[in-house]
Amino acid sequence: MPNKPHITIVGAGLAGALLGTLLAQRGWQVTIYEKRGDPRIQQYEGGRSINLALAERGYAALRLAGADDAVIDQCVMMRGRMVHNRNGQHQFLRYGKDDHEVIWSVHRGDLNSTLLNFAAAAGVEIHFEHELESVDFDARAACFLHQGQKSEIPFVSLVGADGAGSALRAAMQAYRPETFTARTEFLGHGYKELEIPPFDNSGDFSLEPNALHIWPRGSYMCIALPNDEKTFTVTLFLPNEGPFPSFEHLKDGKSARAFFDREFQSASMLIDDLEDDWERNPVGILGTLYLDHWYLDERAVLLGDAAHAMVPFHGQGMNAAFEDCVALAAQLEQTHSREQAFAAFQRQRLPNARAIQQMALDNYLEMRDKVDDPSFLLQRDLEIELTARFPERFLPHYTMVTFRLMPYAEAYRRTQIQNGILAQLTEHARGLDDIDWQLAAQLVQARLEPFTS
Ligand SMILES: Cc1cc2nc3c(=O)[nH]c(=O)nc-3n(C[C@H](O)[C@H](O)[C@H](O)COP(=O)(O)OP(=O)(O)OC[C@H]3O[C@@H](n4cnc5c(N)ncnc54)[C@H](O)[C@@H]3O)c2cc1C
Repeated sequence: MPNKPHITIVGAGLAGALLGTLLAQRGWQVTIYEKRGDPRIQQYEGGRSINLALAERGYAALRLAGADDAVIDQCVMMRGRMVHNRNGQHQFLRYGKDDHEVIWSVHRGDLNSTLLNFAAAAGVEIHFEHELESVDFDARAACFLHQGQKSEIPFVSLVGADGAGSALRAAMQAYRPETFTARTEFLGHGYKELEIPPFDNSGDFSLEPNALHIWPRGSYMCIALPNDEKTFTVTLFLPNEGPFPSFEHLKDGKSARAFFDREFQSASMLIDDLEDDWERNPVGILGTLYLDHWYLDERAVLLGDAAHAMVPFHGQGMNAAFEDCVALAAQLEQTHSREQAFAAFQRQRLPNARAIQQMALDNYLEMRDKVDDPSFLLQRDLEIELTARFPERFLPHYTMVTFRLMPYAEAYRRTQIQNGILAQLTEHARGLDDIDWQLAAQLVQARLEPFTS
């Protein structure tokens, strides 16, 4: 039997662990190097976003690896958005048509541990506490730091699944600066995480569990996602600096509590340890990484956040990273030339990464500023009505991104056309009764071709 092809992955986070599993299941010999300790032994030291929304794209990738059931067991279903207005009222907006169209809240550490178990079971060799420091691409040797000692590891190909601050990307940039020009656009808004404990220590959720809660407030917002241990992780998104309110002006727990009492009262009364959490937890930074070239012949390729980090407002960064894993594994299966596989992977995924990066930026405006706006709500009602009338041509934007597997670029293209139609039809309308349905039919037929899948 011929030797198995070998591949080296840098990073045993979400994408690294899943890609390792998929490749090992397809007959590859896989070695992963991860800078942190094993999260299955020591407490997860993620340092950012405690829980994540898993959607159909990510779920489909997990299904391919056989890990879907194990992951779903740890998730809490989120059927829609619960929007909390300033006046203390809340309104539930379903994401999809029924419980087949929902998203799932999953703990990052638990998910990572589950995927590492699958990788290990598939035969992947994982070395923890090995941090990639530099790469000698000519000698095909990667230098890892392990407990203060450097070791040179030979490789055939390196896969960079080492996240937004990728050391492999930095090494590729240092080797070919003219090819690997990366640009990160920082958002200017950061985030801080807080926690809502179970209700009155009775062991039950303090808010409706099967929803993603949003407190939209114009130029900033708070969200809360449920955890399976009956807590919620609350994330405040706020400008980093500038006039109040910004993180610059909320220096201590006391001023943060006063701000929450005024702006997010229904959340504030549930966050028992707000002052301590505020002072203990760092402000996370958010940005979009634009990189036009993801591979160096057959020697290196990047995926996930290392190739296309994005702001988290569509809840798709991990989902996109999981789609990358499926695409790269498929390309490597189709050809013996790794360079051709990496090139085909980039051709397939780069336009889609750009599209979801842009949609994630657009969604921030929608979440913080529009979800309680009457004209936005009318357009959402109209989307549902147009979907019912023209199911072969029209689908809500959120459905295309979250519950379908159509390429992100296609979802983005159709969204732009649909937004034009929605704006035109609602220009003078106050409710669905005011819509000109004849014009609606003409616009949909003329501008949107039928779905092909
Ligand atoms: C606030 C916030 C909320 C989010 N919410 C969602 C959501 O709801 N849904 C969603 O789909 N996405 C969400 N995301 C995005 C998601 O977290 C990322 O897209 C996802 O983690 C990318 O996976 P990855 O494996 O590429 O990178 P990572 O998960 O960052 O993994 C990288 C791994 O590489 C390791 N590593 C780093 N450097 C080295 C090195 N030099 N040597 C060896 N190992 C190294 C790291 O320790 C880590 O284990 C969110 C992000 C943020 C910041």
